[in-house]
Amino acid sequence: MKKIAFTFFSCVFLNAQNIGVSIKPIEYLVNKIAPNVNTVVLVDDNSNPHNFELKAKKILELDKSKAFFAIGVEAEDVWLSKLKENTKIKVIRIDDGIKKISYAHLHEHEHDAHHEHEHEHEHEHDAHHEHEHEHDAHHEHEHHHHHSGADVHIWTSTENLKILSNNIAKNLKLLYPENAAQIDKNLQALLKDLEDLKTKINEQTKDLKTKAFISSHPAWGYFAKEFNLKEYSLEFEGKELKIKELKKMIDLAKENKACLLISSALFNTKSVNLVKEQSNLKLANINALTYNILDEMLNFAKTLHNNCSN
Ligand SMILES: [Zn+2]
Repeated sequence: MKKIAFTFFSCVFLNAQNIGVSIKPIEYLVNKIAPNVNTVVLVDDNSNPHNFELKAKKILELDKSKAFFAIGVEAEDVWLSKLKENTKIKVIRIDDGIKKISYAHLHEHEHDAHHEHEHEHEHEHDAHHEHEHEHDAHHEHEHHHHHSGADVHIWTSTENLKILSNNIAKNLKLLYPENAAQIDKNLQALLKDLEDLKTKINEQTKDLKTKAFISSHPAWGYFAKEFNLKEYSLEFEGKELKIKELKKMIDLAKENKACLLISSALFNTKSVNLVKEQSNLKLANINALTYNILDEMLNFAKTLHNNCSN
């Protein structure tokens, strides 16, 4: 009887040490910096973080947590207000100091195509009309999704991962002051890993012949920016591209303006298969929600090196 009671209390104690995070790459950083702290991840392997529903079980797990480390994923707003209603959890933003970029790929590409068209045919009036139409479509998207335009996939750059790690460590030290020295030591080791990773990715990508790839979901914009690459995505503002836009992606591949197609099982598999069939691009599984995001970024860089060097 005594033993059961003891087990029960130690469980409660452990639960009290939980830190909530939204996605696995952030869990990885927290575990590296504070291996003794339990983490609760909202988005599991089979859920799309952009339209994820918070389950009652997770709310119970988070109810006993010390804090939730938020990164500004758009869906967090919904989860977090639900959490605040149902728990006493302390929500801490850890994306302070990160410069957000916007999703520019397809729209940019369409503008380029538009200018080319105008130049070639000088049908200025028609071209203008088409342009107006595209803007209407764009506004409609915005209206439906309440999309701010900022890319939320901030964790796919080594510099951003350093900022996130620093913010995580700072807040863990406030929550667990007794472990401050160990947290600092672990942080320094992680920052070194991130610096080494940046060097390695640079080595793999700096001399690529083709510096653009196509992704099933626009998760790699920060990675692309950091390593002077270009991401084209089969998804824009939460929607799969229309067939006309997909055709432009296939053309990019055929003209060797993109050298790799990357996909994770969760997103837009129909479009991925179509582009693969029509273009002969090599398809690689690269998942931005992988727990060890450092390994996955290096894996991505090596895959680029193997497919885009000539
Ligand atoms: Zn995403």
